[in-house]
Amino acid sequence: MKIIILGPQGSGKGTQAKLLAEKFGLKHISTGELLRAEAESGSEKGKIISEILKTGQLMPFETVVSVLESALASTGSGFILDGTPRDLKQAEYLDWFLKEKNLSIDKVILLDIPKEESLKRLAKRAEIEHRTDDTPEAISERLEIYENSTLPIIESYRSQGKLLVIDGTPDIQTIFLDIVNKL
Ligand code: AMP
Repeated sequence: MKIIILGPQGSGKGTQAKLLAEKFGLKHISTGELLRAEAESGSEKGKIISEILKTGQLMPFETVVSVLESALASTGSGFILDGTPRDLKQAEYLDWFLKEKNLSIDKVILLDIPKEESLKRLAKRAEIEHRTDDTPEAISERLEIYENSTLPIIESYRSQGKLLVIDGTPDIQTIFLDIVNKL
């Protein structure tokens, strides 16, 4: 099974992706986590990544592609992509990349939560996790990118009949069961 999970920041994508990966034996590929790990490694590339992360802006296309390609090189029985694609260019690239390998995405899960809920959850997470991009400026930048660049690609998955819209407001277990039932 090859799945994409999308949703605004704070929608619980990472949490649900981990649960789904465990249940279905999928590789969980979080580009955000992979980029944070590279930033923390202290490498020269990591230093540049770290500076971009703080701003909440998207990483350059080439950086995402290199992280993604090495993660997709070994996926066994399938994968769940968390945090990619973020815009049309990445969506088109992913399509092309998978097609080259005779693969395609089966389902796209959209975790739907209102903007106010997203802001509330991110403020709470900022207190607990101290992520460098959970500052008010970076949060507003990331939500703007989501609305302007990520939301438009959702329509294309809807027209392909692959989109599952899931209410992301209940508790973790309820959301998880809803996803499993609809998959
Ligand atoms: P996330 O953990 O998914 O919220 O991602 C954290 C940050 O990593 C984002 O604000 C971006 O700077 C970067 N990032 C993660 N995935 C991507 C992607 N697919 N394209 C560009 N930037 C990304």
